[in-house]
Amino acid sequence: MPISPNHKRDRLKMLADQLERRGIRNPRVLRAMLSVPRERFVPAGELVDAYADRALNIDCGQTISQPYMVALMTESLELAGRESVLEIGTGSGYQTAVLCELAGCVTSVERHAELSIAADRMLQSLGYKNYQLIVADGTYGWPEAAPYDRIICTAAAQRMPPLLFDQLSEGGILVIPLGASEAQSLEAVRKVNGQPRSHKLTGCRFVPLVGSEEPRW
Ligand code: SAH
Repeated sequence: MPISPNHKRDRLKMLADQLERRGIRNPRVLRAMLSVPRERFVPAGELVDAYADRALNIDCGQTISQPYMVALMTESLELAGRESVLEIGTGSGYQTAVLCELAGCVTSVERHAELSIAADRMLQSLGYKNYQLIVADGTYGWPEAAPYDRIICTAAAQRMPPLLFDQLSEGGILVIPLGASEAQSLEAVRKVNGQPRSHKLTGCRFVPLVGSEEPRW
C-alpha cells in the first residue's frame, strides 16, 4: 500500500520516538507501520490523538492498541510474507491492516458485530483483499481455516485458550497477553513438537478476552 501523504509526518515521528527508540528493528514491520493510516481507524473524537503513544477508546467499550504494542506483537510473529494468520479481537481493524501488509492471508474474529462491520468498511476502502472478518467468540478460534502459521490475540486471557493453541501449526507462533486485568504479561508461544515453548515479551494491559472458553474475571 502506498504511503498516504496525510499524517505522514506523524507516522515518521511515531516510528522514531515510539517504535525504533524502544527497539523495534524489523524493517518490514516499520514499513507497514509507516504505510497504514492509523487516523482512519480511530473515532472522530480521538483524531488529534491518532498517533499518541497510548491506546485509544473505540466503540463498544473497547480500545485500539497503542502503536508500540501493535508493532511489538507484529514483530514477534516473525512474518516473512506468505503466512496464514488468525487474529482474535478485530476491534478497529488497525492491527488487521498491519497484518494484511505483512502476511499471506488474515482471518480476524471479533465478538461485536458493530466493530467488525466498521473495520470491514475501512479495510475495504483502503484496498486490502487478503483478509476475512468473522463475528464469533474467538476463544474457539476459527477451525474452518485452521491450522494457522501464526495466531495473535489482542485481548487478555487468564490462561492460554487451548483451542487457539490447537489451531496453531507445528513451528508456528502465537502471541497473547495473559493474566489478570492488573498484571498481564505479553507472551510469545512457539509450538515445538506439539508443545508450547513460551517467553515473556513485556508487561501490558489489554481489554479482557470475553468468551465461553474463558473463565470469568
Ligand atoms: N486489535 C484491535 C484491538 C481491539 S481490543 C485494535 O487495535 O483495534 C480487543 C478486541 O477483542 C475488542 O474489540 C473485543 O471486543 C475483542 N474480543 C474480546 N473477547 C473476544 C472474543 N472472545 N472473541 C472475539 N473478540 C473478542
